[in-house]
Amino acid sequence: MESENYLLKGLRRRMVEDLKAKGIKDKTLLEAFAKVPRHFFVGRGFEEWAYRDQAFQIDCDQTISQPYTVALQTDLLDVEPGDKVLEIGTGSGYQAAILAELGAEVYTVERFKKLMETAKKNLKKAGYTQVKLFYGDGWQGLTEYAPFDKILVTAAAESMPEKLLEQLKPGGQAVIPIGEVNASQKMHRIRRKADGSFSKTTHGLFRFVPMLKGKK
Ligand code: SAH
Repeated sequence: MESENYLLKGLRRRMVEDLKAKGIKDKTLLEAFAKVPRHFFVGRGFEEWAYRDQAFQIDCDQTISQPYTVALQTDLLDVEPGDKVLEIGTGSGYQAAILAELGAEVYTVERFKKLMETAKKNLKKAGYTQVKLFYGDGWQGLTEYAPFDKILVTAAAESMPEKLLEQLKPGGQAVIPIGEVNASQKMHRIRRKADGSFSKTTHGLFRFVPMLKGKK
């Protein structure tokens, strides 16, 4: 990993305190946030802003999610070391780095080639070379690597992404914001039972960029 200065380390520690104050309790998760250098994922010139609890614009009119949103989604996903996790919506690669830091085997799909390439560089700089990146349409999932223990969608799905859910192992779970694209979406946790059927719970309202069809 490239070296970083004390200022950024201090800001990162403060971000973790902020996440705790907002209700994130899982120690392992907070440690992952304390380790991943978010400033490598926000673009040059924004390093000192990287540790504010807010979303940022990245290329292709997309965003890197707010740290609290990343924390909440990751918390709901219940990642265990060794889990095979599929992320839809690589964006900057930050969420993928958090999953890798938690010991997951990460597969991540992005529909903008340019973002996928930048995310790959960001992840390399931050030391997460094990993350597997794919250029494609997340609505299709990654059939050739399925099934997955966990699936995390970081863009707003207008409807239940059935094809993705079919790629979930029995006993596995998915976390997906579902709802109208230009409004708020309900965070869903969808569990696949041993018999292959699904059950779901909802966890508050969020606002994500849309999960669009096809790749660019
Ligand atoms: N997880 C990202 C934030 C993602 S923003 C991070 O940590 O930075 C949502 C991302 O989903 C955008 O980059 C967008 O291009 C991507 N996306 C939207 N629809 C998609 C689809 N169908 N397949 C793959 N990626 C998609």
